Amino acid sequence: MRFQTEIANATIVTPEGRYRGTIAVADGRIAAILDEPSGNADRTIDADGLLALPGMVDQHVHFMDPGDTEREDFVRGSSAAAVGGVTTVVEHTHSNPVLTADDLKEKREYLAGRSVVDFGLTAHVFPDTIEQVPALWEEGVAMFKAFTCTTHGVPGLLPDDLLRLFRVLSRVGARALVHCEDEFITEDNEGRLRAALRDDYGIVPEWRSVEAELVAVNTIALLARLTGANVTIAHASQPEVVDLVRRERELGARLSVESCPQYFYFDADEVRQHGPTRKFTPPARDAPAGELMWERLASGEVDLISTDHAPSTLEQKFEKDIWDCPFGLPGIETTLSVMLNAVNGGQLTLERLVEVYSATPARLLGLYPRKGTIRTGSDADVVLVDMEDERVLRNEDVVSKAGWMPFDGYLIKGRPVTTILRGEVVAEKGEVKAEPGCGRYTTAPQFRSEVTDV
Ligand SMILES: [Zn+2]
Repeated sequence: MRFQTEIANATIVTPEGRYRGTIAVADGRIAAILDEPSGNADRTIDADGLLALPGMVDQHVHFMDPGDTEREDFVRGSSAAAVGGVTTVVEHTHSNPVLTADDLKEKREYLAGRSVVDFGLTAHVFPDTIEQVPALWEEGVAMFKAFTCTTHGVPGLLPDDLLRLFRVLSRVGARALVHCEDEFITEDNEGRLRAALRDDYGIVPEWRSVEAELVAVNTIALLARLTGANVTIAHASQPEVVDLVRRERELGARLSVESCPQYFYFDADEVRQHGPTRKFTPPARDAPAGELMWERLASGEVDLISTDHAPSTLEQKFEKDIWDCPFGLPGIETTLSVMLNAVNGGQLTLERLVEVYSATPARLLGLYPRKGTIRTGSDADVVLVDMEDERVLRNEDVVSKAGWMPFDGYLIKGRPVTTILRGEVVAEKGEVKAEPGCGRYTTAPQFRSEVTDV
């Protein structure tokens, strides 16, 4: 057999462990894993000294296309993903939400020539669009996004709406990613802070408080247990969220918990100091929350990592006051790097990183084992990683339209050097090597297997 590509002499990493081998690719899939290179390939990529990880699967990104392309678009966002070692993204845009099966079809067709990596799309659920869920699921939406509070212009769902939504999800076998902050607690905090004429950066952690997140998570967890719905808590900011999810899971809830690099690396003091460039919600919490989150990530209690890539330019960030400047951080191109740095720092193992940023999201999206692992028959989505590479992250290297990153100036050890999508190199050492359009829509029902629990 003649192979399209051979990734030769790599150390292959899966959640179960690592071994040396050569990944032989035919028709975009892994045709075999060989002890030695066969020499019978159109192209050989020398991976000696490098680690071969399955391409990362980032289930929570906002590329704002169509919608808000001054902030980001799919070409630049997916290029940033490729550079960052991410081969599958799942996207949703708050300013132009997918609410019906027709919206999904239209957006998928619009994006046909605009992605450098494989992609899926998430639909928003508003209180008055819950009945659209079955048709969207049949049309191949990746999952559903709901908010418990009105945020980013997206209307929140109160418990009666959530109960209806979760019953439908449970019936059709789909999953929801839920942004958890209590509508009334955040509103009350806001009223008090505004009455005190506060506009210092310290409003962010007080407004989007610890209690607001926990109360919403509690409601979601209970409703998930009562309905049997498969639900992921989006961007958990604090260890108490993880612990609450664990307790509900022990009682039978089909819950998982997502977190993002900003909750491990940053704390509330940094928000108070930097304001707009550290404004995201729920916000980073007071120390030692980050440290406790690292422990829960290492132990397996945080199920998955996403970026929640939600960029704006620095100009957009500083246009208005702290109340009205946009939430969100860019980061799709740095998430894997900062996590590799954490592996080098001993905070988690490489196997665990592969699990939380590739295998588990792929499972929850119904994409495993086509995505999320390196084995015969899987898509040849591979990221080659140099664990010894040291570099300082710089705003001038950013591929995203944001043009900056919160990790500017950080010395990072561990780098994704080559990103391979279905056997083709899409990025190498910070540069995009493929044309938009090579990324395919990946969560269509014909590709999707059953969505599993963690
Ligand atoms: Zn988000």
